[in-house]
Amino acid sequence: MLARRFTSGRRPLPVTDIRHIAATSCDYTAFDAVIVGSGPSGSIVARTLAEKGCRVAVLEYGGMVSPGAMHEPHQAAYSKAFTSTGAADGNPWTACCVGGGMQFYNAITFRYRQSDLSASQYLSTDMDIDWPITLQDLEPCYSEIEHLLEIGATNGHASYPASPRGVMLSDAMQELGIRPKKIPLALRAPGDSSGCIKCSACDELVCPTDARASVLARNILDDSGLPGAISVFYGCFVNRIEIGRDGRAEALECYVPLSSELIRIPVGTVVVCANAIQSAALMLRSKSGHAPQGIGNESDLVGRGLSFKISGYSVGYVDAADCGSDALASHWGPHATVYTDEFYEHNDVPCRFGGLIYEANFLLPRENIGRVRLHYIAGEEPWSHNRLVLDDVADRHGIPYIRFVYRNSENDRARMDFLADRADDILLHLGAFRIEREPSSHARGSSHLHGTMRAGCDPRSSVVDRCGKVHGFTNIHVMDGSVMNFAGNSNPTHTIMANARRMALSLK
Ligand SMILES: Cc1cc2nc3c(=O)[nH]c(=O)nc-3n(C[C@H](O)[C@H](O)[C@H](O)COP(=O)(O)OP(=O)(O)OC[C@H]3O[C@@H](n4cnc5c(N)ncnc54)[C@H](O)[C@@H]3O)c2cc1C
Repeated sequence: MLARRFTSGRRPLPVTDIRHIAATSCDYTAFDAVIVGSGPSGSIVARTLAEKGCRVAVLEYGGMVSPGAMHEPHQAAYSKAFTSTGAADGNPWTACCVGGGMQFYNAITFRYRQSDLSASQYLSTDMDIDWPITLQDLEPCYSEIEHLLEIGATNGHASYPASPRGVMLSDAMQELGIRPKKIPLALRAPGDSSGCIKCSACDELVCPTDARASVLARNILDDSGLPGAISVFYGCFVNRIEIGRDGRAEALECYVPLSSELIRIPVGTVVVCANAIQSAALMLRSKSGHAPQGIGNESDLVGRGLSFKISGYSVGYVDAADCGSDALASHWGPHATVYTDEFYEHNDVPCRFGGLIYEANFLLPRENIGRVRLHYIAGEEPWSHNRLVLDDVADRHGIPYIRFVYRNSENDRARMDFLADRADDILLHLGAFRIEREPSSHARGSSHLHGTMRAGCDPRSSVVDRCGKVHGFTNIHVMDGSVMNFAGNSNPTHTIMANARRMALSLK
């Protein structure tokens, strides 16, 4: 048994008006905008609108999570998606709670590159791959998010130091001629009273102190000092967007599991930020005379282009005597501190477009003893045959199951194999006597969700415009990862937030 001594960190400050929907009796017509989903995209949209003086309601299905809570229960509480295995074994969520997937994330906060936004120079599919914006459009919003999240090595914040096994990996990469770099983390470095206390291996859990950024830990939803106001109502599943005779969204039909009631919330403007799977499913559930195939689905595009990150893990078993026992002891601290982008755009990679390879420690500190794990990820090609649809069968709440129709392309498999081989080179160079590749589980979903509500000017090839407004509707907007035409080769949350803020700033 491992013994550790804990010191107390600073706890998140309380934020404004967050309550169960059953505990509110407010006049919903008083809100200028209603946002579906309180994850990083919904929260930054709420904040941006409140900065502009708007009164905003955020509707969230999941509840509050406690410091130290683990991820799994916050997925398992909800219906899984049917996948090509024929079973309901797919994950249609990042996490279902106030704050969304960011409550559990690993704080890896890369900016995207121009090549991620114009990937058609490397890849070609039957869909538009390029984003309708450039990196310059995102830059001011990236800076604002870096300021809000206190991302290391920005705005005078200390960068998080490489872990002992990160140092060992950097040395091995350098010896192989591969440039190692420190991962930008939205995590306060150890050293002062509000810094990381290295209480765990820091994966898939809510940070027990506020050292790691999250929607709640960085008070993104706190409206104090802002001219507008934010109210968050949780325990409420938005089932349908109702369209009035004038073709505008007029209300949200919401299901409250606590009372198994359907309630109706009137809306002036609705902004959907429920993630690329749930946002598309909501649009598909919202059939009406004005939208017989679902909202934005006249060209049968909603749900198509579903892209996860293609990714994998290699695990090297290393004899402690080869590398120094410190780096191979149990691991405490961030999931990842060191990476290489050597193969992001590289002539040797199939299609010349690769991705990242980074340190990825196991969930439990002791699982890391004698083992070194690397993760490789790349953006997946968006194909129209990769999609989500609604099943005819409904779950116990009467909500249709989601079905993934999904397969990887040959290009993507080749890109992944290339990155996996390079990861294995690094582990072999470290002296690994055995390397195992963890079986891939792409087809069952990912926590990186993109592409199902594509952005562009032409309603025949896109669902929303460059500012997230659904074509053909004046007051329905989508501002999450579903509007990302190419998933990007890096971890997406920083970009999801920056893009959501950009779109929210443009909202009249
Ligand atoms: C364990 C883990 C580690 C991760 N690590 C990283 C990382 O290091 N770096 C990184 O960039 N990304 C990481 N991610 C991914 C990151 O969490 C997502 O990119 C991010 O949360 C997406 O934000 P979002 O707001 O678009 O969606 P979400 O975070 O999924 O938020 C959507 C919210 O909407 C709610 N919702 C959905 N449908 C409805 C509905 N119909 N009615 C009401 N509410 C609804 C959901 O409950 C959820 O809270 C990680 C994810 C996980 C799970």
